[in-house]
Amino acid sequence: MGILKPALFTRRDALLDRLAQRHVYDLAIVGGGATGLGVALDAAARGFSVVLVESHDFAKGTSSRSTKLVHGGVRYLAQGNISLVREALHERTTLLSNAPHLAQPLAFIMPSYKWWETPFYGIGLKMYDALAGKAGLGATEFLSRAETLAALPTAQSDGLKGGVKYWDGQFDDARLALALARTAASHGALLVNYCRADDLLYEDGKIAGLKCVDTQSGRQYCINARCVVNAAGVWVDELRQKDGATSSLERRATPAMVAPSQGVHIVVDKEFLQADVGLMVPKTADGRVLFAVPWLGKVILGTTDTPRNDLDREPMPFKEEVDFILSESARYLRRAPSRSDVKSVWVGLRPLVKPQDDDGESTKGLSREHTVLVSRSGLVTVTGGKWTTYRAMAEDVLDKCVERGLLKPSPKGVTTHLKLVGAGDAGGKAHSICLAPGLHSYGSEQALVQSLPGADVLLCAGLTHAMVRFAARYEYAIKVEDVLARRSRLLFLDARLAGSLAAQVGEILLDETGINPEVAEFTALAEHYLTLPY
Ligand SMILES: Cc1cc2nc3c(=O)[nH]c(=O)nc-3n(C[C@H](O)[C@H](O)[C@H](O)COP(=O)(O)OP(=O)(O)OC[C@H]3O[C@@H](n4cnc5c(N)ncnc54)[C@H](O)[C@@H]3O)c2cc1C
Repeated sequence: MGILKPALFTRRDALLDRLAQRHVYDLAIVGGGATGLGVALDAAARGFSVVLVESHDFAKGTSSRSTKLVHGGVRYLAQGNISLVREALHERTTLLSNAPHLAQPLAFIMPSYKWWETPFYGIGLKMYDALAGKAGLGATEFLSRAETLAALPTAQSDGLKGGVKYWDGQFDDARLALALARTAASHGALLVNYCRADDLLYEDGKIAGLKCVDTQSGRQYCINARCVVNAAGVWVDELRQKDGATSSLERRATPAMVAPSQGVHIVVDKEFLQADVGLMVPKTADGRVLFAVPWLGKVILGTTDTPRNDLDREPMPFKEEVDFILSESARYLRRAPSRSDVKSVWVGLRPLVKPQDDDGESTKGLSREHTVLVSRSGLVTVTGGKWTTYRAMAEDVLDKCVERGLLKPSPKGVTTHLKLVGAGDAGGKAHSICLAPGLHSYGSEQALVQSLPGADVLLCAGLTHAMVRFAARYEYAIKVEDVLARRSRLLFLDARLAGSLAAQVGEILLDETGINPEVAEFTALAEHYLTLPY
């Protein structure tokens, strides 16, 4: 069992002072999403010295834009990928147990409108239960039409035959990323956001560290490390190609490893679902999967799977994607959400791993599993996979580092029962993640949040001045976006409301950190999250 430690301050000048010290780290990690943070935690918990640099904010990339499901992947079962499902089901249990304030079980219902759907999908889901074994969260049930409508009162009732109820999990992705970062820090790791890895250091043709730049001041740092892990999500190829250009004997261009695929989510008010269960459509009119998930007091609708060639930090949804989500939702919900009901729209890029001879035009056949590659010079690149399996991915990465002699052998499994920051007993019953956010989102750190100035001064429901101060003091936040997009999730839930709070949040942050909180930039971003293509 992990021992819970007191919260650590995350003052930026202190973090940068540490970064400037001459030290040879065991591991330097590039990228502060689920993958990099998972590796940082596992390595730090094993006793390795670890530094992680993130070019933007922790979870600014794909890791704050997921569908928020902790899942075994029902659709991978349909594709016959049993090992992937089994691993994810195991990881689902681990995550729910190690961060119960941020990840919880959630029931889903597949409504049936054709007579064969209930038995067909029901049998598949019974197999899902069987694969989960002891890790199961509840037995799959066949529901009558009346039972389906009782659980999903806003489901389209015309032609409804019944439904199947099964269990998976849901989570707050960006707050989980923060919990991973802070837990890694409590085991000695140094993590710095707004610090971009620009180049690699070599000794005798082997990687010996990296060069990075504090994107706020422009100051450069050299980090010496025995092993460098490239966990930059869809952006891994930038560093791989730099490495290839330096170390390849043939001087050939390094082929891209990632084929990005875009997924769009739309958020609407909870009135559209009025349920504490998710709605899952296993096969839309064009054969895709669609979810309506109750999350933090709103409903997430999505997602899509559209190949993209660019790697924009804030990609725009395509018109067809928005039309698809709205029109399919209208088929399954009694009240159809329209464009004017959209509270926020956000887009994430999946780092799908392509075979080296792939043309990148279709993402359907690409691997949803993760890949770990080690280059000739020793750069360890990891990408692909999913949030749910971040812990297993981290173990695979460290195994590979040991296998290549980059790290000393060390026993794995140290994170299986390691509680994340905030997971301790907060007293009282755990609050559902379906419900609007509030103090309960802080788990066992609620008393610490309440001890800060402004604990009873609300910015809006569920967000106080003290929470902004907490984000600045303990959660690495320096910009308004850090607070309103990822410490609080308001940008993802209600972009207009988030935009209206930018100036007030900026004032508190400036008071805490003395760093420009970039208020105008956030106001523009909030507008972006409200913009739908026509
Ligand atoms: C639409 C969608 C829905 C999804 N839904 C689910 C789901 O419900 N459940 C689930 O389990 N999984 C889901 N996933 C998958 C999951 O979100 C991803 O697998 C995971 O977030 C990838 O994490 P990552 O750390 O590899 O990438 P990222 O989160 O993108 O992290 C990479 C980080 O590297 C940083 N970086 C890049 N270049 C540099 C550099 N030079 N220096 C320093 N830092 C750098 C980036 O800023 C970024 O923060 C979903 C994915 C998408 C796209």
